[in-house]
Amino acid sequence: MPTTTASRPQLSYLTDQMNELKAKGTHFNLRVLEDEQAPECTIDGRHVINIASNNYLGLTTHPRLREAALEATRRYGVGSGAVRTVAGTMKIHMQLEEKIAHFKNVEACVVFQSGFTANAGTVSAILGKEDFIISDELNHASIIDGARLSRAKIKVFRHKDIAHAEELLKEVQNEPGHKLIITDGVFSMDGDIGPLPALCDLAEKYGAIMMVDDAHASGVLGRNGRGTVDHFNVHGRVDVQVGTLSKAIGALGGYVCGSKDLIDFLYHRARPFLFSTSHPPSVAATCIAAFEVLEQEPELIDKLWGNTRFFKKELGLLGFNIGGKNTPASETPITPIIIGDGKLTMDFSRELFKEGVFCTGIAFPTVPEGKARVRTIMSATHTHDQLSRALEVLKKVGRRMGIIG
Ligand SMILES: *Cc1c(COP(=O)(O)O)cnc(C)c1O
Repeated sequence: MPTTTASRPQLSYLTDQMNELKAKGTHFNLRVLEDEQAPECTIDGRHVINIASNNYLGLTTHPRLREAALEATRRYGVGSGAVRTVAGTMKIHMQLEEKIAHFKNVEACVVFQSGFTANAGTVSAILGKEDFIISDELNHASIIDGARLSRAKIKVFRHKDIAHAEELLKEVQNEPGHKLIITDGVFSMDGDIGPLPALCDLAEKYGAIMMVDDAHASGVLGRNGRGTVDHFNVHGRVDVQVGTLSKAIGALGGYVCGSKDLIDFLYHRARPFLFSTSHPPSVAATCIAAFEVLEQEPELIDKLWGNTRFFKKELGLLGFNIGGKNTPASETPITPIIIGDGKLTMDFSRELFKEGVFCTGIAFPTVPEGKARVRTIMSATHTHDQLSRALEVLKKVGRRMGIIG
């Protein structure tokens, strides 16, 4: 029996679609990291400066986290053996949830397998088909999928447009269903910050539930990286706070913070929580250690922001379009270099890679048509020398390809 399926016709329509992407120049092969997720690393056999990862604080390789994972593996093994509601709740899972709830100064927390499942599982659990979701147009895919799964009616407001959000709320204010206002804390493709205070005002005025997805704000914004609720000091005004353990925290997972009753409800109703196995103990231990690092090494966050200010300024001086004209202006360590054309963007990313700089090209459908970009992300662990070398390459390749003058 041949094991190849290449000759079977049932899936040939997928091959056709990939061939279309190849013709358009936006097909990609996965880049393979051969050593650690670090500011300088080896990808596809090439030594590169990495300005693509979400490893904001360098915690993927922090000695204390590494040791915590090893110690938990020695003591508790490699897997949890079941979903949380059956036999897969270990003491270390509860300790992590308590740690996060305490850190965020909320009543309770539930940890999911990822930020994606935290969003999708929560939105779909707390709303039903009589309800309404008022959602920013640039919200993350996991929010969109959760909204669809909930079967609630979805009303999308123009990016950060409070007046538009209010218009949509007015349209449904006399309907009996629940209303949920939802925004990213930091928008992942543009690096701008969601308008939490104004959205909280709206939520209070119209009796809506307020939810924030802080994936890119966890460990980055607010005191010790407590996120946008802390950054804006809107404590007590956001009903559902989602965060991720996969980006600045350096491991894997997502969480929801809120009232005891909300968390208890999610324990009973959130489908990824009920139907997918919990984290290995090593991951839970890693995350606990990460929150200890946030509390005890706030200088990492200062370093992250120092690098961010330097790199953003230099990119601007080189003449790159780093947003703010007909795209949102970044306010965080995410700085897009807007190119526009999808193929030129992918070619730019490939040329940068050949010259030793790794930053990913992002095109439609992840960003709108005509707004393709390479996205740069700073970390606390980039050295000044690494950033200067990356900027030299960006300048050289940018000029050669006519992207800057
Ligand atoms: C990355 C991201 C997620 C998903 O988080 P994971 O832990 O990687 O699944 C959710 N929301 C936003 C805004 C993100 O950027």
